[in-house]
Amino acid sequence: MQARLRFAPSVQDFKYNKKRVRLVSQDSYLKDAAKGVVYWMSRDQRVQDNWAFLYAQRLALKQQLPLHVCFCLVPKFLEATIRHFGFMLKGLQEVAEECQELDIPFHLLIGFAKDVLPAFVVGRGIGGVVTDFSPLRVPMQWVEDVKERLPGDVPFVQVDAHNIVPCWVASDKQEYAASTIRRKIHDRLSEFLTEFPPVIKHPYPSAAPAEPIDWNACHASLQVDCSVKEVTWATPGTAAGLAVLESFIGERLKSFGTDRNNPNRAALSNLSPWFHFGQVSVQRAILEVQKYRSKYKESVDGFIEEAVVRRELADNFCYYNRNYDKVEGAYNWAKTTLKLHAQDKRSHLYELKQLEEGKTHDPLWNAAQLQMVHEGKMHGFLRMYWAKKILEWTRSSEEALKFAIYLNDRYELDGRDPNGYVGCMWSICGIHDHGWTERAVFGKIRYMNYAGCKRKFNVGQFERRYDPHQLGQ
Ligand SMILES: Cc1cc2nc3c(=O)[nH]c(=O)nc-3n(C[C@H](O)[C@H](O)[C@H](O)COP(=O)(O)OP(=O)(O)OC[C@H]3O[C@@H](n4cnc5c(N)ncnc54)[C@H](O)[C@@H]3O)c2cc1C
Repeated sequence: MQARLRFAPSVQDFKYNKKRVRLVSQDSYLKDAAKGVVYWMSRDQRVQDNWAFLYAQRLALKQQLPLHVCFCLVPKFLEATIRHFGFMLKGLQEVAEECQELDIPFHLLIGFAKDVLPAFVVGRGIGGVVTDFSPLRVPMQWVEDVKERLPGDVPFVQVDAHNIVPCWVASDKQEYAASTIRRKIHDRLSEFLTEFPPVIKHPYPSAAPAEPIDWNACHASLQVDCSVKEVTWATPGTAAGLAVLESFIGERLKSFGTDRNNPNRAALSNLSPWFHFGQVSVQRAILEVQKYRSKYKESVDGFIEEAVVRRELADNFCYYNRNYDKVEGAYNWAKTTLKLHAQDKRSHLYELKQLEEGKTHDPLWNAAQLQMVHEGKMHGFLRMYWAKKILEWTRSSEEALKFAIYLNDRYELDGRDPNGYVGCMWSICGIHDHGWTERAVFGKIRYMNYAGCKRKFNVGQFERRYDPHQLGQ
């Protein structure tokens, strides 16, 4: 907070980079009789370090209007389970408390945004709506639906608060690989990787406060699968996420460069759940981590490559490729090679249930699967091996992709994320990769095997850690 305040007393005294913002509606002017501004929070579930929240406050301060935050809670979302909803709701509870301290009413609207947000806007005489950005199909449709139903004279804008370089600025097309987007992103970092001004106590109070929220009743009313349990190692919310960032910098960053591909070592940031729910800003993580560049150059550069280049490449892929989670979305060379090898004999064939229960012949694969099922986060290196084996052991690449995405979205706390779709597409369909030596089933898709893992790390140690008997399975 001190760094933010040193940077600017508020967003009003700060030259906001409008390239982060794009107009969704036709009309761009706030009408004179407006009684407030709304930030419709969706992907970026935090108060500070949030360019969408800041833009909404900037608008409200300029017009001397109250500012509201709305979150539209749907009772069901894709394959999300209580593991995901529980994490999200507890994070939102913290957001609501922080908003209250800043005199910004937080409204939890129950239902789809198209059904509840326009009525809220009309009912409260709201003059402008700001939302954040996700490149995924379902949230993109939510934005379209709200646009259709908002009154024509209410300007509606979208801010990319998740990426450092806004997705539409980084590139205007689907990038082929990390090598083609890396320079484009690095070239824009001096412009976009800035400190944030603070979201401040809002000086224009709303006449009608927000309805009180019964979080326990809300949790109980969800219509989601409760068999995938919430995890205990990851405390939801921004404060806990920032504590993980602090522990990463203090304890693990030094070995990130050398040990990040070793699943037995604690070298990763572990931040993906907080990044996924927008509880921690990646930009904040980079601002803090890069302070250690002179001390841990290899690690800091490696982290920037993963958290900025690879992550923003994933958003680029999902934004520009509508088939981001289908074999049709792969490059032609990959589709051709997979087709050519579609009839190849598989050494093993597994049903979804056997995979889900971690009952294959491969103890490393089973251990990785059980790590994901029990802890909600599989180690990054093993995710590649895990998905590639699903290609090897199922009837077709289509089935492999379907199973991998299903399992990933169901058990990973960071699932249903562009990174997940791209991770599965990279492993199974060669997205952002190139052709390798041709072999059975995989064709030219990059292959990984058990012997290769054994050369990289102590496979037995990892298998013992996730032994099904020890886990009580
Ligand atoms: C099959 C498969 C499935 C995956 N599913 C997901 C998923 O559902 N959600 C998800 O966030 N990531 C996914 N990834 C990418 C990556 O494995 C995870 O982001 C990473 O393991 C998360 O742990 P961490 O935060 O400790 O990572 P760190 O290594 O500490 O990296 C920091 C951040 O960089 C980003 N990042 C790291 N690796 C990648 C990558 N390869 N591609 C894009 N961004 C990356 C993530 O935001 C991550 O939180 C998947 C990868 C594969 C191969």
